[in-house]
Amino acid sequence: MTDPLLSVRDLKVSFQMDEGLVRAVDGTSFDLLPGQVLGVVGESGCGKSVTMRAILQLIDRPGRITAGEIRFRRRDSAEMTDLTRLAPRGAEMRDIRGAEIALIPQEPMAAFSPVHTVGDQIVEAILLHGHRWQEGGRKLTRTQARTITIGLFRDVGISMPEQRIDAYSWQLSGGLRQRAMIAMALSCKPSLLIADEPTTAIDVTTQAQVLALLRDLQAKYDTAIIFITHDLGVIAQMASYVVVMYLGRVMEEGPVDDIFHAPKHPYTRALLRSIPSLYGATRIALPVIAGTLPHPFNRPPGCPFHPRCPDAMPRCSAAVPSLQSVAANQLASCFLHHDIAEPA
Ligand code: SF4
Repeated sequence: MTDPLLSVRDLKVSFQMDEGLVRAVDGTSFDLLPGQVLGVVGESGCGKSVTMRAILQLIDRPGRITAGEIRFRRRDSAEMTDLTRLAPRGAEMRDIRGAEIALIPQEPMAAFSPVHTVGDQIVEAILLHGHRWQEGGRKLTRTQARTITIGLFRDVGISMPEQRIDAYSWQLSGGLRQRAMIAMALSCKPSLLIADEPTTAIDVTTQAQVLALLRDLQAKYDTAIIFITHDLGVIAQMASYVVVMYLGRVMEEGPVDDIFHAPKHPYTRALLRSIPSLYGATRIALPVIAGTLPHPFNRPPGCPFHPRCPDAMPRCSAAVPSLQSVAANQLASCFLHHDIAEPA
């Protein structure tokens, strides 16, 4: 069995607001293997983006990690480092962020400075973490870093890279900006890429191209990817393993094939029913998940999904089901499949 690259255990992140406490992540656990593509799926507000910001130690006040561990295997280290123990703005966390764990955000426009060319910003990142590209211990020159950047532009499918390297982010189309962002994320050869809904801000045709590109790059660089999305169709194309989240908790997880062919949790089943079928009748309205996501200050007691669950039983509103093995490779938090509740 391969050791994980990342192991998140019982992670809790809360936001203390004037109106009350929001438990954005409420006991999330999962593992990620080296080179694996993990899909994290759920409706907006389910805690998936907050979980990823916690991994990067980028939780803004009034948010705070209140419990749990985020253990990450650093390059060239036999031991795992608990990222929750590092100062978010300290030197070690800054080195990990960008050089070992990189983020592809939803909106790349905000990630690039408008006053420097896109190429200059990537060249600076390569020079900062230049040891990843060095051969024979010699310091990289700016010219070498520029040549590497042109090569990365080519890898991510940017045509005329020698000219586009001198463009500003606002001169590029949405699709080209997202490709440049992927080049920026790869510029330090990270062992983990976090892609947070990376195709939300681009048109449908470009979306398909960016997903195909990420698949190719993952195979080429053998980088592990956590792919955050609300779209199970994207997960089917991209990931080998999927974690389904709802109200800050993991509802179900397992290999993509098992989850798609034999989902155990009522929430996963409802998400799957709401994906359009290529072969079904085109005029039938897709079923939507009954009810609405509870207000963050009004979290239901017991199983968080019970107010919307078609299979809810009296017990479901009284106790929180824990995440347990329910099939050979699947875990689910649901009393339909086991009796084990979280400790009160
Ligand atoms: Fe539905 Fe109960 Fe399972 Fe929650 S524990 S998903 S309410 S059956």
